[in-house]
Amino acid sequence: MYKGIAGSEGIGIGKIVLIEEHEIHLENRTVEDAEAEQKRLQGAIDKFVADTNAMADRMDATVGEKDADILRGHIQMLQDPMIEEQLTALVSGEKLCAEMAVEQVLEQTAQMFAQIPDELLQQRATDLRDIKTRVEKILLGIEDVDISKVEKGTVLVARDLTPSMTAGIVPENIQGILTEVGGRTSHSAILARAMEIPAVLSIENICSLVKNGDNVVLNGSTGEAVINPDDDVIREYQQLYEAYQKEKELLKKYSGKPTVTADGKQVELVCNIGKPEDAAKAVECDGEGVGLFRTEFLFMDRDSIPTEEEQFEAYKSVAETMKGKPVIIRTLDIGGDKALPYLGLEEEENPFLGFRAIRFCLERRDIYEIQLRALLRASAFGNIKIMVPLVTGVEELRQVKEMVAALMKQLDAENISYNQEIEIGVMMETPAACMMADALAKEAKFFSIGTNDLTGYTMAVDRGNAKVAYLYSTYNPAVLRAIQRIIECAKKEGIMVGMCGEAAADPKLIPLLLAFGLDEFSVSATSVLKTRKAISEWDISRCRELAEKVMACVTEEEVLKLL
Ligand code: PEP
Ligand code: MG
Repeated sequence: MYKGIAGSEGIGIGKIVLIEEHEIHLENRTVEDAEAEQKRLQGAIDKFVADTNAMADRMDATVGEKDADILRGHIQMLQDPMIEEQLTALVSGEKLCAEMAVEQVLEQTAQMFAQIPDELLQQRATDLRDIKTRVEKILLGIEDVDISKVEKGTVLVARDLTPSMTAGIVPENIQGILTEVGGRTSHSAILARAMEIPAVLSIENICSLVKNGDNVVLNGSTGEAVINPDDDVIREYQQLYEAYQKEKELLKKYSGKPTVTADGKQVELVCNIGKPEDAAKAVECDGEGVGLFRTEFLFMDRDSIPTEEEQFEAYKSVAETMKGKPVIIRTLDIGGDKALPYLGLEEEENPFLGFRAIRFCLERRDIYEIQLRALLRASAFGNIKIMVPLVTGVEELRQVKEMVAALMKQLDAENISYNQEIEIGVMMETPAACMMADALAKEAKFFSIGTNDLTGYTMAVDRGNAKVAYLYSTYNPAVLRAIQRIIECAKKEGIMVGMCGEAAADPKLIPLLLAFGLDEFSVSATSVLKTRKAISEWDISRCRELAEKVMACVTEEEVLKLL
């Protein structure tokens, strides 16, 4: 049995499809028969064109015409007469092998574009390198797995689950996911949970331990997986699967009910979403709104920043789907483990402590203004609130408010409607924000505690580093005190305080959060009913008794014993 991190709950039983990362090794060789080699090259180009057209047609239907057209543009780039001429000169003239000719011509052209200080032309360089790799893979017979086409009953095994892989996943076909890296709060885990696919992450060397077609069972709740299990183990997992489905069925009785404690205190129970389409899932799972829309996913898996119109449509669609229920939209939280290659940002030594989230947005106001304008315009169609990530002090919040005020004037002048009372709140996820919570509460309309980062930054631990994972714990008294302080400061100023980190759905922490007075719990769609059930089992007086004891603890061990 292999042990990893429980990334997304549920039981998976299926056959492995291994997603390998291929390294391309090229040989600088000449050929005898240049004519045959020219034909081989043309064959690869033809296949590239056919594959790309097919991919673009699929994208028309799923992601949209604009992204599909970017792909179609790749065909034109490869078929550019200058490029074709240079390729022919190398293959037919100098008898160079096709893959080396492709490498030389496309790499040189890419380098030429990369040197021009213009973002659009630099993007061309990225595109050309992408085209180059794809054509070389065709010539070398390297086939990448097309995730969108894998069979029903597949368990995907990959080093990491990237956003572009997840874009291709058809949830009905995927029974589970196993990876070599990533923790419970990594974005791969968050995406797996959003799609309700069981996942076990960070299994050492899993990619070298399995092969395509191996049978596998996995338990995403305990973080266990067995490769080629015997009949007894399969039977055991089938029983677990049925029990899991039954529990899900039982939870249905909590659907359509308010979220109240046993003694009648009502709180809000809302959802975390990553894509506009997830809003429908939030409604289906009976979420009472959206407590965190991670907008950076709109910016990923594409070649350029989404336009104001695209963003407006995305935010508006969520607001409309939620029909007047609160929708908290977090502005762009890029950096850290979420890169946007097309921005061409410098690599940083400590990306989690670097140029990310609001720091990036206040520097690149051209990009931020587009998002804020789109948010304001969409606010006319529902109950949208703006949330600022990674805040460390009041200056950042004030600057965002000034930008919003200026944009409101612009919209007034253009006669475009928006919600003049739109609330601007702060994501509380840095120790600095926690220390300044009293001051921030005077200027923010609401708080939402991001325990994923708050835990990491409070404990000075990297979210994804397995060596120090033992320190990454929200049960640590230091983190609990931070949470308590943030809630207290919000209460003192009478503003709403929620939690959108993973801790909001942790049944062990729920009584503490209730005792502290948390107003809103924002959890993944799949955790809504479980969280409502957990909340319904507590009396506030009992929560307070427990909290008093827990907050007197000075070690995590003591805390866990009590919880
Ligand atoms: C958090 O930090 O708790 C959070 C919800 O945001 P993210 O996981 O996207 O950083
Ligand atoms: Mg965060």
